Formats: sequence, C-alpha cells, structure tokens
Amino acid sequence: MPKKIAQEIFSRQDITPLKALELKEADLDTLCDCANEIRRHFMGNSFDLCTIINAKSGSCSEDCAYCAQSSRYPVDAVETYPLLDARDMAREAAYNAQSGVHRFSLVTSGKRLGKRDLHGICQALAHIRDHVDIKLCSSNGLLSQDDFEQMKQNGLTRYHNNLESSAAYFPRICTTHTYEQKIASIRAAQKAGLSVCSGGIMGLGETMEDRISLAFTLKRLGITSVPVNILSPIPGTPLEHMPVLDNDEVCRIIAIFRYKPL
Ligand code: SF4
Repeated sequence: MPKKIAQEIFSRQDITPLKALELKEADLDTLCDCANEIRRHFMGNSFDLCTIINAKSGSCSEDCAYCAQSSRYPVDAVETYPLLDARDMAREAAYNAQSGVHRFSLVTSGKRLGKRDLHGICQALAHIRDHVDIKLCSSNGLLSQDDFEQMKQNGLTRYHNNLESSAAYFPRICTTHTYEQKIASIRAAQKAGLSVCSGGIMGLGETMEDRISLAFTLKRLGITSVPVNILSPIPGTPLEHMPVLDNDEVCRIIAIFRYKPL
C-alpha cells in the first residue's frame, strides 16, 4: 500500500484522508522508505534551518493543556518576563545567522499581541532586517490582517501559528480560543502576503485520524511548512501524565505527513 500511494503522489494524484489512513497499518520500514523517496522527489536534499527566540515568556491567559506558559497551571520551571528589548532580539538573530541558520522567529506567549508589544515586535523586525542577514518569522497568536501588514512592512516574511490537532480534538486541548479563530488568523496572514508555517503537537491524546485530519486541513490552507512537534509532558500542566510517544510511532507519524500531497 505505501508503494502504491507513493506512486500516486509522484504522478500528482490527490490522495484522500481515507487512503492516508490505510498507512497507519502499513509495514513501518516500507512506509518510511517510501516517505523518504517522496521527500527526495519533491524536496531534494536541501532543508531550511530555522530557530526561535522566546521573546516574551509566561503569564498567558489561555488554557492550552500542554503549555507551561499558561498562568492557569502550577508550573515551577517556567521563566516569566515581558517582551525583550529589540536589540537583544537582534543580537540573538545575528548569532543564529553566523551559525548558519536561515530563518529566525520571534515567539511570544499570549493569545495575541497588545498594541505596545506589536510595536516592540515591529521595532525588532526592522532592526534585524536592517542589520542581520536572516529571513524573519514570528509567532504571536491571533493577529489581524492590519497587524500582519504592519509586521510585513517591517521585514516579516512568514508567520507561524500551529493548529495543534484536528478541528474535532482541539476543544479537548484548549477552551479559551477556537480552531476557527486560528484559521481566520492564518488566512489574514496569507491575505497580508505572508507565507504561513503551521503544524501541530503529536501525543496530546489524539488518534491517527485526528493527525490525518490536521494534515488535510493544512493542505486545504495551502501550507507547506509543517512543524511536527512531539509532546514532552510538563509537570503541573493537565497533560503531565500523558505517555510519551515511542520512536516507532513518531517515525510513523512523520512518514505519513510526508504523504500529504504538496
Ligand atoms: S496561547 Fe500560547 S503561550 Fe498561551 S497557553 Fe496557549 S500555547 Fe501557551
């Protein structure tokens, strides 16, 4: 089955979620070999290396069940601080550029940026654009098209907003904002002329059906930069006792995401 589906993808036929689901029972070695062929066929051997800075940490009003930065959970290990100074962000961007990183993302905790923090992020973006040879991304929650246009004017080219899981499973993970709000923000970023990076966290208790549903939602949104994160349960969060996915399961998930037609 993996070989047949891979052939269909090479000939640019669309596969259905139902067909993708058949891959969950496939022999793991064959599945991964074919996924590797798909990667080689469409992407070659080059890759885009990106890093992030946690530009504002903790004190978040939201209740994402995996997150140490939510103010709702008794997590000891999280550092809390307001938005960093633009020059500190630029210094970190320069260090990353010198280390061979292609893209650098300014990540902030919180549902969205307030006016003052939006201004601070725009200042940092402009400073990095003018002084550092690196592409810029940011991840700052549920922003509007106006916000994205301001950020683009200051050098932003890509916006990050993970959908995290399927539309059906997301309300089990977060109740303080919705999947629809996330999609609206992704579309607003695209309308502002930004490319979008969006993926999810695996191991939140979701099924393979949820993961495949996420992959197809991302496909419908035209997203080709897809982070596949694996939950590292954090003491104090509601998911602290969630079992960690084993290596075979992680390989299977990443391989199946490769079968998402481009
Ligand atoms: S909105 Fe972001 S920072 Fe806040 S709890 Fe959710 S993931 Fe964490």
